[in-house]
Amino acid sequence: MTVAEKTKAILKEIGDTKLVCVTKTVDPERINQSIRAGATIIGENRVQEFEDKCAEILPCERHLIGHLQSNKVKRAVRLFDVIQSVDSLKLIQDINTKAEAIGKVQEVFLQVNIGEEPQKYGFYLDEIGSVVSEIPSFKNIKVKGLMCIPPFVPPEEARSYFRKMKTLFDEIKKEKRDNIDIQELSMGMSGDYRIAIEEGSTMVRIGSAIFGNRKY
Ligand SMILES: *Cc1c(COP(=O)(O)O)cnc(C)c1O
Repeated sequence: MTVAEKTKAILKEIGDTKLVCVTKTVDPERINQSIRAGATIIGENRVQEFEDKCAEILPCERHLIGHLQSNKVKRAVRLFDVIQSVDSLKLIQDINTKAEAIGKVQEVFLQVNIGEEPQKYGFYLDEIGSVVSEIPSFKNIKVKGLMCIPPFVPPEEARSYFRKMKTLFDEIKKEKRDNIDIQELSMGMSGDYRIAIEEGSTMVRIGSAIFGNRKY
């Protein structure tokens, strides 16, 4: 199947769930094939890579899904509609400062380290409450969702992590403030998106199932 056919098939399969078409290492021409086929959101992992190719990419919503280093925050705030990979209070402060400087309210998701894996980025479950309580003081941030990358386990074993995320999502959703309006639960990738959707994902992030295996 072509990129366009795969995009259409996935969009049809996932129905109301949103698709983030993950485009790291993919060239603009193939990204545009997916956008023409109906993809409306793309996800990139690296600021530099996206900067190099963004001028050639058709209009779409742009999400950052990879870890953001503090020296790239300014560029990320200019480039991305949503930063899904917010994983520290320091990063929240930095994003707020850079967004304020250009008069933008930056939409972000909080990344949760749901498997509590030390080598992975993201807030631990027991930190989320206190982070959320700090958000109202950052006027140029708007928290719109939660994101997770569960441990690398067979899809069926990821289910319990997705379920924990859904519980957290339902809890945090009640915290409606000026700049906290949690609507999206971003979880599920090529190998496990069906299970993520069964467990309540509202947004899946799919790369290789559309573009094939990545060549680095
Ligand atoms: C690469 C990546 C994906 C997509 O992975 P696939 O297995 O290719 O679908 C999703 N989320 C994040 C954060 C990624 O880095």
